[in-house]
Amino acid sequence: GATAVAGGPPRCKLVLLGDSGVGKSALVQRQCRGTFNPDMTVTVGAAFLAHTLSLPSGVAVKFEIWDTAGQERYESLAPLYYRGATAAAIVFDVSSEKSFARAQHWVAELQRHASQRPLMVLVGNKTDLPAEERAVTREAAAELADSNDMLYIETSAKTGSNVAALFELIAEHIAAPPP
Ligand code: GDP
Ligand code: MG
Repeated sequence: GATAVAGGPPRCKLVLLGDSGVGKSALVQRQCRGTFNPDMTVTVGAAFLAHTLSLPSGVAVKFEIWDTAGQERYESLAPLYYRGATAAAIVFDVSSEKSFARAQHWVAELQRHASQRPLMVLVGNKTDLPAEERAVTREAAAELADSNDMLYIETSAKTGSNVAALFELIAEHIAAPPP
């Protein structure tokens, strides 16, 4: 859960889960470096990044971001990253039905450990793609999020649309969890 150490800034261990190729690393790179590299190398195992985000309230949230690989062959490693996580972003690609099915799998897996469930955010990425490539409706995704007590947001790591909003959404819930 949220670990607000007395006197220290709130910390958030954030894990990114989701199928390979949905844009997890691109989202992290967009947020932490402000760039988008279309030829980014595939993440092996998991990558770690530290990132501090200052909220309008003045509170600075220290993110410890674990960007996982997503390939099925690394699946057995996933609990190492989501156990003890403050927040989990489950990312899918709005143009990929398969990636949405994988997201549902991750939702179910995290729900199984409900007692120590992190804050869960469903992220539909690649909203910059043409409408005719869209395979998962906003309604279907919002319904999955609703029925699992998750937040939902749509992003584009390519254009940067809603990427800061995603991290702010998480930070705000960590800094001031709703009652
Ligand atoms: P990961 O495996 O989930 O970490 O996915 P990557 O971040 O490596 O991205 C996989 C591919 O999708 C790369 O070719 C990215 O350039 C591309 N990509 C990532 N985010 C976006 C996005 O928002 N829009 C588009 N059009 N492509 C994206
Ligand atoms: Mg990656």
